[in-house]
Amino acid sequence: MQLPTYDDVIAAAARLQGHAHRTPVLRSTTADARWGASFFFKCENFQRMGAFKFRGAFNALSKFDATQRKGGVIAFSSGNHAQAIALSARLLSMPAVIVMPKDAPAAKVAATQGYGAEVVMYDRFTEDREALTKRLAQERGMTMIPPYDHPDVLTGQGTAVKELIEETGPLDHLFVCLGGGGLLSGSALSARALAPDCKVYGVEPEAGNDGQQSLRTGKIVRIETPKTIADGAQTQYLGEYTFGIIRRDVDDIFTVTDAQLVDAMRFFAERMKMVVEPTGCLAFAGAIAASKAIAGQRVGIVISGGNVDLSRYAALLSS
Ligand SMILES: *Cc1c(COP(=O)(O)O)cnc(C)c1O
Repeated sequence: MQLPTYDDVIAAAARLQGHAHRTPVLRSTTADARWGASFFFKCENFQRMGAFKFRGAFNALSKFDATQRKGGVIAFSSGNHAQAIALSARLLSMPAVIVMPKDAPAAKVAATQGYGAEVVMYDRFTEDREALTKRLAQERGMTMIPPYDHPDVLTGQGTAVKELIEETGPLDHLFVCLGGGGLLSGSALSARALAPDCKVYGVEPEAGNDGQQSLRTGKIVRIETPKTIADGAQTQYLGEYTFGIIRRDVDDIFTVTDAQLVDAMRFFAERMKMVVEPTGCLAFAGAIAASKAIAGQRVGIVISGGNVDLSRYAALLSS
């Protein structure tokens, strides 16, 4: 298997130019003082559709040939990948089908439809979504784009950290949220190329530490769907491409509890005045937990997204 390289991230950045937002890198003197390091927050909660996933989706769809464009794209997701594919397809004027569970939150279904995609529902308990998606793809001549294990997806995700380090200069440590590893593997490609001495870490929910187990045992470990408020990181296993890069380029993987995520979420709300979804808090929660080891150093934090139902957000903050 040929792993993508930083050159592919550079090519992705060119495709995203003028389409993706160049998101801000924010500082917080309160964070620096409280945890004793210099933090640089790359705010993908301000990306189009509210998460970094726009980068990978748009990059992948931009590479479709004429036949693929005509047939369109199909994906299964009830989260940010669904909205990223739907928006990218609309911008590139191609049809999109998103396969979602019947019990997906109405707001997510509406958001995806709002971007112009057709939503096909399936029953989580009786139907196999992968088989259904494959059948639909064949019937309708659509190309399937997975949420993380695809070279064009992960190199698109890597453009966020490319922008970060180009703006900040070399960093000593970089913390990245980890689900299936698209964001972490792409980030690692950029960090290795632009700041070779920077240590790169993934942070995942304690309830679902398959990435940590995989890195430590050297093979992809599969787990049951973890119970955590970090719904964007409820993946059961890393991908072949993402793990190939992570095992080579990532220094370590840490875990945090849901309570630590809520603490980070509250900090973002109270001190930095921004809404970050629970999954988007993983990286900073991990950095706070490691504050002794990173004291006095330059630390990049990727805030991955800000899509959270407001009543759920309020309930979490008042818990
Ligand atoms: C998808 C997602 C993640 C996890 O990304 P992977 O590429 O699957 O590791 C993290 N945060 C948010 C907000 C996401 O939508």
